[in-house]
Amino acid sequence: MSRHTITLIPGDGIGPEITEITRKIIQAAGVEIDWDLQPAGLPAIEEYQTPLPEKTINSIEKHRVCLKAPITTPIGSGYRSVNVTLRQHFDLYACVRPFKTFVGTKTRYPSIDLVVIRENIEDLYAGIETPKDAPETLQLIDFISEKLGKTVRKDSGISIKPISIRNSERIVIWAFEYAKKYRRKKVTAIHKANIMKFTDGLFLEVAKTVASRYPEIEFEDRIVDNMAMQLVQKPELYDILVCPNLYGDILSDLCAGLIGGLGMSPGGNIGESAAIFEATHGSAPKYAGQDKVNPSALILAAVLMLRHIKEEKAANAIEEALAAVIAEGRYVTYDLKQAGEIPAKSSEMGEAIIAALKKA
Ligand code: NAD
Repeated sequence: MSRHTITLIPGDGIGPEITEITRKIIQAAGVEIDWDLQPAGLPAIEEYQTPLPEKTINSIEKHRVCLKAPITTPIGSGYRSVNVTLRQHFDLYACVRPFKTFVGTKTRYPSIDLVVIRENIEDLYAGIETPKDAPETLQLIDFISEKLGKTVRKDSGISIKPISIRNSERIVIWAFEYAKKYRRKKVTAIHKANIMKFTDGLFLEVAKTVASRYPEIEFEDRIVDNMAMQLVQKPELYDILVCPNLYGDILSDLCAGLIGGLGMSPGGNIGESAAIFEATHGSAPKYAGQDKVNPSALILAAVLMLRHIKEEKAANAIEEALAAVIAEGRYVTYDLKQAGEIPAKSSEMGEAIIAALKKA
């Protein structure tokens, strides 16, 4: 086993607490990591007057792998979301979110095993927007009227949805390669090509072309609204969902709901130059410092990270230990307990996972 150097961003709110627990669990699993601790979010604003200091970016550039706890995006200030900035800066084009039911979680769906693979850069998240009444908005409205013969009301704001061949192709290839690597059986492309023929239609055409190069993996497509209903009614029919950015974001939260909530949902943002692993939930400020929230999402993000750096054995061991603790149901946080039961603290859940690791 080799030593790794990895950027660690403890974030803010509940971030530092769940980071510490996760770090101890990785250490107990025997992986040797030199953590390069870097600020982002509220502590960074206090010290560096920016939520994402240059030194944090440089660290990720250097080490190419980062574990990141949640970060508050201040509402009403000029700061852009650190998460969106990092994804765009490092061209982290593939967002992968596995959703698996752990025995012992509170859910109506006992056997979910889905992976959402989301294009992370373009679509309505490209940040190409103009506000109502701005001169460029009015120019765009005139241009659309002149060149396309379509009327947009003058009191509109505008967001642009670009979807390209290159970005669609690389995310669909990523999804099929993931399917091959983890022996998954089917990829479903999500779209609304019946309405948005030139953007979602392009995504679907590219997906079909890429799929033809992987005859051993089943391929199908679904219109996004139908997909939302099907995921609620018969999620067992699906395996990997490959999505443009917006649909991937929405369906991810739907899938998180199927497996018992955001506290159980990890994610990886992966590009050619770097990879950032994170819990998909936010900084839950109202619970900060209370040793109360479920650390599982960040622990599972660390599991994804360990697989990425080829520490499969430790990744599997941590996942199994976490599963054992949740199945036993004794040392789990409030969100995993039935009403009336006394919840464990986050740190107690962490210690129980370490004990399960040592027992295995
Ligand atoms: P949130 O995910 O922080 O919290 C919403 C609610 O979900 C919490 O009040 C809590 O009831 C529950 N919850 C969240 N994490 C949990 C956990 N680990 N265990 C148990 N319950 C948990 O969402 P929010 O309140 O909308 O956002 C708070 C801040 O976080 C905002 O500033 C937002 O911008 C930011 N945010 C950051 C990220 C990120 O860093 N990746 C993601 C989403 C939101």
